[in-house]
Amino acid sequence: MMNIVLLGAPGVGKGTCAEVLAKKHSIPHISSGDIFREAVAGESELGKKVKQYLDRGELVPDELTVEVIRQRLEKDDCKKGFLLDGFPRTIAQAESLKKFSKIDHILNFTAVKKLIVERLSGRRTCRKCGAIYHIKYFPPKLEGVCDKCGGELYQRSDEAPDVVMKRLAVYEEQTKPLIDYYRNEGTLTDIDANYPAEEIGKIIEQCEEAIKNG
Ligand code: ADP
Ligand code: ZN
Repeated sequence: MMNIVLLGAPGVGKGTCAEVLAKKHSIPHISSGDIFREAVAGESELGKKVKQYLDRGELVPDELTVEVIRQRLEKDDCKKGFLLDGFPRTIAQAESLKKFSKIDHILNFTAVKKLIVERLSGRRTCRKCGAIYHIKYFPPKLEGVCDKCGGELYQRSDEAPDVVMKRLAVYEEQTKPLIDYYRNEGTLTDIDANYPAEEIGKIIEQCEEAIKNG
């Protein structure tokens, strides 16, 4: 089966790899962060509830997060498998997930902290189409302008330096314990994500290997 969870600190590059893997295996890429950000942008009921947490770099409460993901996994497109990116983020979420879904592979993305901070603070997003750039590793042809659509590039409010630090602290405290939790269950594979964007293939290879062997 192809029920996959990507684990790892913010900025470790799991989102980009998730896109590639999901496409390759024709399964949906489900990012809890994207779902929440879209809800905030669309000013939906959910968006109003979660905005304050996202702005501060704090976790959305477990109960609400679990319900959002549970409903998403019930959709037809998840029948052949799915790729969860950013969920679960706490032991409580992992315990809940276990009750409504069986997970086949946990891929734990690791990278040194310096790289992670650099990646997060250099990231720029297109206001119009959502394309992601990096001022050092993946710059647009013209500074501040999207190559794909000409839209304006901006720094996400949760990628401001103080919020980045907060998100990393939250990861250390609340999400890192999941590594041991899943390692004890025997479903976890470490993925070395210390590669620049142009060598993403090396990371994908490790993921494919883990999926095949798991
Ligand atoms: P990151 O780059 O920090 O991994 P995400 O895009 O995954 O960011 O998530 C952005 C924000 O959305 C988080 O800082 C948090 O507020 C909220 N969020 C995402 N996933 C979860 C989750 N599983 N539980 C609680 N909050 C979440
Ligand atoms: Zn764009």
